[in-house]
Amino acid sequence: MIYLEMARNEAHGGGTWAFQNCVWSPTQKRGGGSWPFWTKILQVRQGDTVLHLRGVSPNAHFVGYSIASGDGFETTRRPPDPKQWGYAERFYRASLSGFTPFHQRVNLTDLFSSRRTELEEYFDTNKALGSSKLNVFFVRQAGRLQCLNGAYLSDMDEALLTALFGSGRPINAPLDGSTVVSVETGSQISTVRSRLGQAKFSREIKKMYGNHCCFPGCQVSDSRFLVGSHIARWIDNEALRGHMGNGLCFCLVHDKAFWRAP
Ligand SMILES: [Zn+2]
Repeated sequence: MIYLEMARNEAHGGGTWAFQNCVWSPTQKRGGGSWPFWTKILQVRQGDTVLHLRGVSPNAHFVGYSIASGDGFETTRRPPDPKQWGYAERFYRASLSGFTPFHQRVNLTDLFSSRRTELEEYFDTNKALGSSKLNVFFVRQAGRLQCLNGAYLSDMDEALLTALFGSGRPINAPLDGSTVVSVETGSQISTVRSRLGQAKFSREIKKMYGNHCCFPGCQVSDSRFLVGSHIARWIDNEALRGHMGNGLCFCLVHDKAFWRAP
């Protein structure tokens, strides 16, 4: 899965709780009550992608992405500098690694104007899903697109990635003639998109094999130790990418063995 972390600053927690190290939040609002953009941290699974949006509009930018290095959990450990969330006794946390900065930060205000039609359409389509709609980071309010206050960790799917950044090619959009997403950044976003496709493929393959390694005699049936593998490596063959007939479910050991076989 892919999530969007939206925060004002980089200190956000400090120490090993600061930007790039994890996503975190209190478990309760001051005075009690949960908040969907905080409980979402518990849904984060190792290997998920987290996009980072930093700053306050009109200076909020997509700055890069990280990979979850573990599942989201609840803890009584505290960030060294929780600021206005110091009241909390328990926190949610999902650790991150491998922060990859975008070659060029992408300004959200520019996207709200250059991708307005696409984003409005996405918002309306999502809203129409009712109770199964995604928790997204923006709202369409009084004829304007704006960030939803407090939407700390929100859902992102392939359609929203496309609404924001286009289908992979750079977007030449704003009226001042500048480019919103450079070629390099566009290709980094394509990488994020591939990761998303890969994760979905892997989940479906594991399900298709009933969460069992398909190597003869292998007993591994714990989905944490299984991978959905492509028969033709997806990177070598664009036409076969995502094609279910090309999937095999292996445990980690047999996945390695399969690729090393002559
Ligand atoms: Zn196996």
